[in-house]
Amino acid sequence: MIIAIDGTTASGKGTIAKRLAARYGLPHMDTGRLYRATAVAAIKQGVALDDAARLATIAARLDLTHFDEAELRTGEAGKAASKVAVIPEVRQALFDLQRAFAIQASGALLDGRDIGTVIAPDADVKLWVDANVEQRGYRRWREYLGYGQAITLEEVVKQLRIRDERDQSRKDAPATIATDAVLIDTTDLTIDAAVEKAIAAVEAVLARGKTV
Ligand code: C5P
Repeated sequence: MIIAIDGTTASGKGTIAKRLAARYGLPHMDTGRLYRATAVAAIKQGVALDDAARLATIAARLDLTHFDEAELRTGEAGKAASKVAVIPEVRQALFDLQRAFAIQASGALLDGRDIGTVIAPDADVKLWVDANVEQRGYRRWREYLGYGQAITLEEVVKQLRIRDERDQSRKDAPATIATDAVLIDTTDLTIDAAVEKAIAAVEAVLARGKTV
């Protein structure tokens, strides 16, 4: 079974993805890390975030073991990731890795922005996870505080709006809801309630005879 989880930044998709992957015993790829790592590596090497050729080379040679979680999770890394993610050559360089992960024999769960539309349009379950921007901003702001980053809530909400706009308006693989995706709005849901909805979507597919 292939499960595709897409959605907006700080919508809760990452947490839902981890919990579903554990429940169904599926290998999980957080595809945002690929874009974050490409951007962080570029910054370290002094490569401009619009240098398509050099960024594509970095993406193609990416070794995720070279990054620690905290450096990939910063607001700066997320913002830089959304800039490199606009570049078709970067997306192309990361495509094969994601596609191979999606079609492995064990099944797979991937989360990102374009999994249900581009990486695995053939996914058995597609979820689109969203929440209003104020709620997402509040969640992300608390995460930043946990990582010791000093930033105001207003600034986090402003950055999310910019990121949403960039992700949704790019020409190549914009973040859009697949026509056959199940929408989960987490604005007023606890994480457990959101996970329950996601499980219900998977169970509906299993009930039709698909196996994990
Ligand atoms: O999900 P996360 O916040 O880690 O993603 C960081 C950025 O990477 C997103 O804002 C988006 O621009 C990009 N991304 C993407 N396609 C994916 C996953 C992430 O364009 N499948």
